[in-house]
Amino acid sequence: MKVTFSTLSFMHQEIRDELLACFEETLDHGWFIQGRQLQKFEKDFAEYCGVKHCIGCGNGMDALYLILRALGIGSGDEVILPANTFIATALAVSYAGATPILVEPSVEDFLIDSSCIEGAITLKTKAIIAVHLYGQAVDVGEIKNLAGKYGLFVIEDAAQAHGAQIMGETVGSLGHAAGFSFYPGKNLGALGDAGAITTNDGMLAQKVRAIANYGSETKYLHKYLGVNSRLDEVQAAMLRIKLRHLNKWTQARREIAVRYLQEINNPKISLPYNNNDGHVWHLFVVRCKERDILQQYLKERGIETLIHYPIPIHLQTAYGQMGLGENAYPAAELLAKEVLSLPLYYGMTKQEVDYVIEILNKF
Ligand SMILES: *Cc1c(COP(=O)(O)O)cnc(C)c1O
Repeated sequence: MKVTFSTLSFMHQEIRDELLACFEETLDHGWFIQGRQLQKFEKDFAEYCGVKHCIGCGNGMDALYLILRALGIGSGDEVILPANTFIATALAVSYAGATPILVEPSVEDFLIDSSCIEGAITLKTKAIIAVHLYGQAVDVGEIKNLAGKYGLFVIEDAAQAHGAQIMGETVGSLGHAAGFSFYPGKNLGALGDAGAITTNDGMLAQKVRAIANYGSETKYLHKYLGVNSRLDEVQAAMLRIKLRHLNKWTQARREIAVRYLQEINNPKISLPYNNNDGHVWHLFVVRCKERDILQQYLKERGIETLIHYPIPIHLQTAYGQMGLGENAYPAAELLAKEVLSLPLYYGMTKQEVDYVIEILNKF
């Protein structure tokens, strides 16, 4: 049996007619940037996250960049983030002109280790980015306490966690502002690049919107040194349709994850920590000391897996300027050597899940 890592085709087959009809409507309407599709999607997504404002933008990295710019964070400032995130979190900070300061993740739940944050705070620190990695919401309580104590902003990187919840609160509403990605492979994905910012702060929302639109609030009046990062009408239209189905698709992901959690029982494989039922399982990530051997073993048996992420940020060539070598972040480095993401997607059959579990248990 062959089990692919992920495919979007079951989602798209299910809503193909809706997507095509909406594409035709947008085409015929003839307005492609900043029109009614975007307005409607922003309203729907703000509601979905339980926040007052949503601003569409070009992609997830831009979303984080725009938040930083609107908060006035740039040259000479430091921003704290976990060392095991996707590099875009750090690149957004660098792109804004600020310095990313990495801290260790917890090897238990893969999320930023709150107990490591205070030691990384300096007089230059302006914000902490909580990354809801793999679809699990960060418990931001302790992070908010620290932010209050030191006068910092809490920014969420919610690129992997649309709809994830913690203690009844939805991701996107947990900090001062959140950045979302709608890259096609994310839990809510466009048919191309797209992103959004959510916040309850009206002033911040207005500033983000302006910076994303050449720094302009009124046509040809430019208040900020802005950029062009907007969410196109066609993508907004597609996202609006897909958002209506998201909870059902997430539920299907949860059912697969629950089976993995209950039925994978190989002592060589550690299962992901799951402290709440608000996890949206963007990825199902196990740990194994013999990870590379396990990956090869699965490949030989037709099961495709991926590694998120094989090289921590401080060991990337692009961040050589950090001047950090091996052992700078032992927990992040350990995870990079041991994590493996299993197949998990909407439309995965019971037989496929059975097979993955059976093969893993025989390793
Ligand atoms: C995907 C992702 C991003 C970047 O989103 P893009 O839309 O690809 O720019 C940022 N942070 C995390 C954690 C991501 O997974």
